[in-house]
Amino acid sequence: MPARIVISADGHKAFESWRQAFATVAPDLPVCSWFDPAWQLQPDDYALVWKPDMEHMERLSSMKGIICTGAGIDHLLALPNFPRGVPLVRMGGEQTARLMADYVLWAVISLLRGARTWAIQQQHAVWRNNVCSRTSDTTRVGVMGLGHLGAFVAQDLAKMGFHVSGWKRLPSDVKGVKVWSGMDSLPGFLAGVDILVNLLPATHATKGLIDSDFFSHLSKGAGFINVGRGHHVVQKDLLKALDDGTLCGAVLDVVTPEPLPAESALWQHPHVILTPHVASEASREMQARYAVDVVACLERGERPALLCDVARGY
Ligand code: NDP
Repeated sequence: MPARIVISADGHKAFESWRQAFATVAPDLPVCSWFDPAWQLQPDDYALVWKPDMEHMERLSSMKGIICTGAGIDHLLALPNFPRGVPLVRMGGEQTARLMADYVLWAVISLLRGARTWAIQQQHAVWRNNVCSRTSDTTRVGVMGLGHLGAFVAQDLAKMGFHVSGWKRLPSDVKGVKVWSGMDSLPGFLAGVDILVNLLPATHATKGLIDSDFFSHLSKGAGFINVGRGHHVVQKDLLKALDDGTLCGAVLDVVTPEPLPAESALWQHPHVILTPHVASEASREMQARYAVDVVACLERGERPALLCDVARGY
């Protein structure tokens, strides 16, 4: 029986957009909706999921593979009965990395040039010439997490002329980037960083890592960009660092909780730019193409590049 993708999308409209995307990139690949009452499990079924509901768990455990439509899989591993024996592959592909690198570059430049201040001035029709003379070639950017996204982001910033260093769990080389690895090296990595980019996955080891002590190691008045997860940040410590000048500003694409409650002090903070978790989501067609490649890879008996290590948590 040929491989088939069972799409667990919320509602008919979402399913239809996935069906059309698969029809464009792989017209011969059968797809069906998880919610179709006539659907019967077949031996070569692969599930495409984001947030499956609890009823799905049993059927998920009979799948040949599970492809998550997001790059973060922490929400899946947090589900008590999520099947751990089925290969789980994260969303990836070149477009995801390109989108993330573009977002981070925009965020870095926004912090360097004080873009939040300009936006506030514009809102109040204030013409104040607050010139900034910080440049890329004198700015040290630190990227936490040098995986599929972080390595691409770090190398892209290095190409733009920034001085880039990165931090990861295990030692390895990333061309053009000074690499630090392991928890013991964290203070050394942070020392002198002018703009810190968080691209770590949400795991037990990374929860609450970014707190007052963490910020104190950065250069005075550093900028902070969070595109990883809100889970990494102690939010009250972030607000304190923004208020006392430890940080000059923050660009936050991810927060806890999402959506951010209306009463959060982050919304109106004069040094915070907020975006609603939009840094990197590839087009449906690109995601479908990626999923087709993952299925082909698993069908050949090979290991997809973004296969999750469930025990490690990413
Ligand atoms: P990867 O799994 O490819 O890379 C994770 C990196 O983090 C690796 O370099 C890994 O180190 C490092 N790492 C993990 N745990 C630790 C630790 N305890 N200490 C130090 N380093 C650690 O992930 P991606 O690059 O694909 O994605 C990263 C995260 O970005 C996702 O988990 C997700 O949360 C977030 N994301 C956000 C999006 C958005 O729109 N805002 C979109 C997509 C993803 P090593 O290489 O040594 O294993």
